[in-house]
Amino acid sequence: MTDSRRYHITTFGCQMNKADSERMAGILEEMGFEWSEAPEQADLVLYNTCTIRDNAEQKVYSYLGRQAKRKHEQPNLTLIVAGCVAQQEGEALLRRVPELDLVMGPQHANRLRDLLEQVFDGNQVVATEPVHIFEDITKPRRDSTVTAWVNVIYGCNERCTYCVVPNVRGVEQSRLPEAIRAEMAQLGRQGFKEVTLLGQNIDAYGRDLPGTTPAGRHQHTLTDLLYYVHDVPGIERIRFATSHPRYFTERLIRACAELPKVCEHFHIPFQSGDNDVLKAMARGYTREKYLRIIETVRQYMPDAAISADAIVGFPGETEAQFENTLKLVEEIGFDQLNTAAYSPRPGTPAAVWENQLSEDVKADRLQRLNHLVATKAAERSQRYLGRVEKVLVEDQNPKDPTQVMGRTGGNRLTFCTGDIAKLKGCIIPVKITTVRAFSLTGDRVEMPVAGATC
Ligand code: SF4
Repeated sequence: MTDSRRYHITTFGCQMNKADSERMAGILEEMGFEWSEAPEQADLVLYNTCTIRDNAEQKVYSYLGRQAKRKHEQPNLTLIVAGCVAQQEGEALLRRVPELDLVMGPQHANRLRDLLEQVFDGNQVVATEPVHIFEDITKPRRDSTVTAWVNVIYGCNERCTYCVVPNVRGVEQSRLPEAIRAEMAQLGRQGFKEVTLLGQNIDAYGRDLPGTTPAGRHQHTLTDLLYYVHDVPGIERIRFATSHPRYFTERLIRACAELPKVCEHFHIPFQSGDNDVLKAMARGYTREKYLRIIETVRQYMPDAAISADAIVGFPGETEAQFENTLKLVEEIGFDQLNTAAYSPRPGTPAAVWENQLSEDVKADRLQRLNHLVATKAAERSQRYLGRVEKVLVEDQNPKDPTQVMGRTGGNRLTFCTGDIAKLKGCIIPVKITTVRAFSLTGDRVEMPVAGATC
């Protein structure tokens, strides 16, 4: 394979897709490909897709249309669709875009080299059959040199009635704790300071793993994993996402309070504040249980940052049920809340239910929820004013080169004056002078602060 070919990857969707794209980029670079910032300059174009909502799915088709036209002028162009739309559509995608060379589901990300060799032998390839995800040895081409994604569990065994993830990402497959620790140790040696442990339903980590934990416990859990990887040298901060209220235990909360490297930021989607809607969603908890979880988190870590996801306009959702969602948001006061209008997804139970709501009703509820979210986030941000926060510097502020930017332990984006060449990867004390709903600005504090690293 000639070594001057260039590749471009466009990634849609969640952190899991971003992590998959980093690994696929690593495989392509090992095969001799070079990154091309401009897709139109690339000899290989890969779209790593998302199908969580219809608008996410539709995005890729417009991109593909352009590349398919290009392929007629440039037959050597290699065109790939990966990720959740690839898994959902499979062969149908080849009929829709016959110019495609490879359609590969998320479980096949590590197999990109084998699949491409079949393509270079002149085949059109579809790889969507369920496979056991083998431990990946590739060297991901990571987007950051400071923070890194580390997969701990793939797939999801839940059956939320609106969600397409189990259909496209398959059953839960947990990585061995030793493999996760080895990857984190390598990251620590490479100078990374923060790791986010990833899973669609991360609190289910380990329930599919046989045998005992390295500490001899009979059941692997996320809590055990946090204790097991906490002392990896070089890694200063550990985050994890995405949690599920059904499995979010007090034992996990206590561990997070006890382990200093674990950031006090929890992403726990609640989806609806109404028990009947939660039942119809098959989420497996009640608003009361959710409120107790947040209460317990705040008992152990009063300043913890809480973020979540919420869906409005689920089939059959009444105005009163929607108002229960607003009441929950009012009561908890989230630091951040990702909101979306319900979107019927292929192969999910709720998509065929009679009681679908109109787009107008959904849009109205989304707008009202977003307004409340911004108001509450601005209130929550006030607590930072005048405080000294430890910020891990990740980058230069793209809007102001005299400033650097990074995140507090509570995952708040923060800006302050500084030289990125000197401060990148440092945890610096910053006195907060300006607060906004979703970000902060402050002045670097010269005095030494515990946990600061430069
Ligand atoms: S827990 Fe539910 S919403 Fe989350 S990925 Fe699994 S099925 Fe989807």
